[in-house]
Amino acid sequence: MPAPHVAETNDCPIGRILFLSTILQLDTGCNTITKRGLNGFFKETYMIKIKENISLALYTVYKIGGHARFFADVKKSEDIIEAIVFAKEKHLPFVIIGAGSNMLVADKGFFGVAIHVGGGEVRTEGEKLFTDAGVMTARAVVASAKAGLSGFEWGIGVPGSIGGSIRGNAGCFGGAMKDVVENVEIFDSLSAERRMLEAARCEFSYRHSVFKKHPEWIILSAVLSLKKGDQKQIQQRIREITEARAAKQDIGTKSCGCIFKNITWAQKGIQKTELIERFPWLADFRDSENIPASLLIDRAELKGKRVGRVYVSPKHANYFVNEGEATAEEVVMLISLVKDTVRRKFGISLEEEIQYVGF
Ligand SMILES: Cc1cc2nc3c(=O)[nH]c(=O)nc-3n(C[C@H](O)[C@H](O)[C@H](O)COP(=O)(O)OP(=O)(O)OC[C@H]3O[C@@H](n4cnc5c(N)ncnc54)[C@H](O)[C@@H]3O)c2cc1C
Repeated sequence: MPAPHVAETNDCPIGRILFLSTILQLDTGCNTITKRGLNGFFKETYMIKIKENISLALYTVYKIGGHARFFADVKKSEDIIEAIVFAKEKHLPFVIIGAGSNMLVADKGFFGVAIHVGGGEVRTEGEKLFTDAGVMTARAVVASAKAGLSGFEWGIGVPGSIGGSIRGNAGCFGGAMKDVVENVEIFDSLSAERRMLEAARCEFSYRHSVFKKHPEWIILSAVLSLKKGDQKQIQQRIREITEARAAKQDIGTKSCGCIFKNITWAQKGIQKTELIERFPWLADFRDSENIPASLLIDRAELKGKRVGRVYVSPKHANYFVNEGEATAEEVVMLISLVKDTVRRKFGISLEEEIQYVGF
């Protein structure tokens, strides 16, 4: 029997959590549930419902991917933690799925516990917005607008959850999660600690956060800091953004948004002057932080390029659309074709923004 991994927390609002390979004690402060975590017992003893062999395609916007060996649909922090405990007890890896709008699941699925975090509570108080990780970004934007809070209007069209958006520092229309997050409550699945991280400790940068470095840190909830504004102006801004997105992007299709990150001028190996000299159309972006990946794909004449049932969107070249029944393998082949072509034509290496699951 492997040595039990035991961790205790002192600052944990729900009390003490012990990870043991045979006995698990979850002290919620109100009641203590002692469970025998051996195979065969879990179905009777876990408070959450654990399902088996569930198609993950159903939980991604791409509608692609195989089955998860185990699956839990949760929204409350305690239930997220319990699903993680289940995975630990089974000695299986786990993956968190928010809205599934930025991930590609392998055709063979995920041999572990897929934890779908969806829904939860969102409320405002003064200039703060308190939200669970599973709340959809758009729902949080609507709640902030209703309370006359400004600063989060840009998030209206991001089809992700708050947890997924914080992890990837989602952003658009000049805003990003880094501008609004005040603090994040996390569950450290290695030490079994539940704790708060101030925004400064989230290490936000372009499509990056500390959570990418620490996949064991699971986002449970967050507090966003917004500003009192004029409700009419806030709603007008939300309308403008919604219309602008619909005009430029493939909204409502099976995709996972931008496949690649934009290229930042500051990144290693990018010689600004030389690139602009060779490709004068890049001069338009001289004063921007980034070169849009969609522009590079477009200039490489890859719009409309397809592999099987997935193709590069003619509307927005960084979106690869599943026209129905596409496989993850087809997406992967199209990704590698596009990367290869862009690298050969411009000497620039595109890097995926999407997250791979089960590969
Ligand atoms: C049509 C379309 C438009 C898009 N537009 C934009 C845009 O304008 N700007 C932008 O930045 N993105 C955009 N995206 C991408 C995507 O919506 C965002 O990245 C979103 O923030 C992802 O959130 P999610 O809940 O869907 O994450 P998921 O796809 O479910 O997960 C992404 C990653 O985050 C992890 N994760 C999810 N929840 C948690 C959690 N609670 N704790 C720890 N890890 C977690 C997952 O394990 C995975 O690694 C778009 C996508 C689509 C389909």
